Amino acid sequence: MVGACPGCYKPQKKLIYCSDCRRKLFDGVKVPPVMRFTSPAGSDSEAFERHILKVAIPGSQPKYSLTLEDDELVLTKGNRKGLFLVKTQPERGDFLHAAMYPENEHLTMQIASSVFDISTTINALVFFSDETPAYLTRRFDVEPNYKSFQQEDFAQLKERSIKAQDYTYEDVGKLIRKYVAASGPAIIIFYRRLLFNYLFSNGDGGLGSFSIMRSHLGDYTLTPAYDLLCTKLHDSNSPDTAMDLYTGVRRSSYYLKHRYAGTAEFIVLGEKLGIPASRALLLIKAMLDKSLKAIKMVEQSFLDQESKAAYLHLFSEKLNRLTTTYP
Ligand SMILES: [Zn+2]
Repeated sequence: MVGACPGCYKPQKKLIYCSDCRRKLFDGVKVPPVMRFTSPAGSDSEAFERHILKVAIPGSQPKYSLTLEDDELVLTKGNRKGLFLVKTQPERGDFLHAAMYPENEHLTMQIASSVFDISTTINALVFFSDETPAYLTRRFDVEPNYKSFQQEDFAQLKERSIKAQDYTYEDVGKLIRKYVAASGPAIIIFYRRLLFNYLFSNGDGGLGSFSIMRSHLGDYTLTPAYDLLCTKLHDSNSPDTAMDLYTGVRRSSYYLKHRYAGTAEFIVLGEKLGIPASRALLLIKAMLDKSLKAIKMVEQSFLDQESKAAYLHLFSEKLNRLTTTYP
């Protein structure tokens, strides 16, 4: 891991955040990537017990709040809102490549932002003093003065008349149209995120994975993407999509034959969201054109060799599904 920025993988002489990452993560402060305390599994476990965040967390990764104090990251004291969140690997459960959880999320978020121009929360890899890696993210809903933005996810905003498990991405599109003022651009952003989740085998992109927040102008916008990772790397039963693309997708002739969605189903979804078929196809093609850049980033990542191979295998499987089924 020495020789690259643990934020963006840029080559570095030492294990330090590059100046770009320092600026985005810490407003320019030189924060060391290795923290002074051990991981929750280490000797500081009691301190973590007191600090674990009691919030509804999709998935099973423990999450802790961190604050910058004297240029170092420390566990947030009391009920203050920390500017950062740190996620460790799951402490329980039977997961494949479990130790790679933090880097999987970091890598997938980096691919989303720097290869696919998807707006994400600012993130990096950080290390405990025992060298265990963790995923670090800067909260987008807290300003440096700890003033919070009003943020709500679609699990909170969903129509009560539809059960959460019956929701499709088409329905989420309707919620975006209802709540977001500039809904046209937001629908395109949403559609590209769905394609990204599909390509990178993220089976956790449910209602809680999409949020809106009130801007300074008082209207609602989609928040940056968060919680992006290749869930299938850790759980072979992870679904292709957390929700069906639209009602009836499982009855399409392609789906019935293959048991999964292809390009045609994504184009139908686009149309249901209000994106003309020709535009949807261009959006899909533009994403597929970036695959080599994505593969390069996986190779640069801090995943171990076995996980890199598994991650790339899953990616190529999804690429094939979309490239071989152009209408
Ligand atoms: Zn960097």
